[in-house]
Amino acid sequence: MSQRAGALKAAGRRILDFSVGEPDQETPAPIVAAAVAALHAGKTRYSPAAGLPELRAAVARRYAATDRVSFTPEEVAVTVGGKQALYLACQALLDLGDDVVVPSPYWPTFAEAVRLAGGRPVFAKTREEDGFRVTARLISRALTRKTRAVVVNSPSNPTGAVIQPAELLALARLARRRRFTILYDDTYARLAFGGAHPRLQAVRDAAGERFVVIGTASKTYCMTGWRIGWVLGPKALVDACAALVSHSTQCPTTFVQVAAAQALDGPQDVVLTLAAEYRRRREYIHPALAAIPGITCVRPAGGFYVFPNMERYLSRDVPTTLALCGRLLEKQGVALVPGEGFGAPGYARLSFARPIEELREGVDRIATFLGGLVLG
Ligand code: PLP
Repeated sequence: MSQRAGALKAAGRRILDFSVGEPDQETPAPIVAAAVAALHAGKTRYSPAAGLPELRAAVARRYAATDRVSFTPEEVAVTVGGKQALYLACQALLDLGDDVVVPSPYWPTFAEAVRLAGGRPVFAKTREEDGFRVTARLISRALTRKTRAVVVNSPSNPTGAVIQPAELLALARLARRRRFTILYDDTYARLAFGGAHPRLQAVRDAAGERFVVIGTASKTYCMTGWRIGWVLGPKALVDACAALVSHSTQCPTTFVQVAAAQALDGPQDVVLTLAAEYRRRREYIHPALAAIPGITCVRPAGGFYVFPNMERYLSRDVPTTLALCGRLLEKQGVALVPGEGFGAPGYARLSFARPIEELREGVDRIATFLGGLVLG
């Protein structure tokens, strides 16, 4: 959708693109300055495969300060974004034919990273009526004899749902009992809008070696193009990830690692400001979408996506959300991502990482478009 929106923009049309998965703000100036200074200071050579020691330590310090969970720097590998962190963790963990439980709706890369490692994603469907929340019970029903790992993404892309602390803890106990690893993707964790904070140390204590965090600087610090992420977990897994890096990319870009350490160690007010801004946008976008007749919509608890149910607008003429989003783009110049890609036909993902004036105009255009369809 993003590409189609881009093509229409290039052809001169005014397009409101809500398909994007990245903050609309610039990278904070002190982080940029740290990268420039690192270049001038000659930080232009290889780093160790697991990352610069000072960045591994900075990641561990940040998790200790914000999440109150303790990992040693040796239990941290720095990666080329959260995507590579996930890829490496799957490569290191999975054998051919292993099952990985992926709650759905899901971010498509979860399924593909599992498949690339020879595994099989087993989808556990969360329900809109339950706020798309993942529970230990839902996961336990999806376990097989071959389950090697379970993905938890909280807040979730695309639903914005957050797992309850008690459920995550119950899942950690289950992980130890049933011998699977929790791949906990906290990409949007710093952009959660209040609510109970996950007790990661308790989770780690309960799951032991079976708790792995996949994280990234991308969204928290508006650094999507810089490509820095991390894996936190048992040293054996971290070493295996580093071994894979050593013979593929060697290391994440060295001067970028210096800047990422500045992001993690520097004042965190930029993160609080960003989270407050997304919360303000959520306060607008959620009720505005939910007020459109025929649409139901779970209120996102974090991140910058909202995932309305548009099923009642499907018809013989517009049979899928794929078709619906295609038509919306063509007629009103609004780009959403159809739910099919997230394993959730009938829904669409709207990213509110866009200025609020644009969100207002987008909602108006969506309402006008849907108003021209027959409500089933
Ligand atoms: N995990 C989730 C759930 C995401 O949505 C994303 C990006 O959209 C990532 C991980 C990875 O981001 P990056 O590779 O930019 O760090």
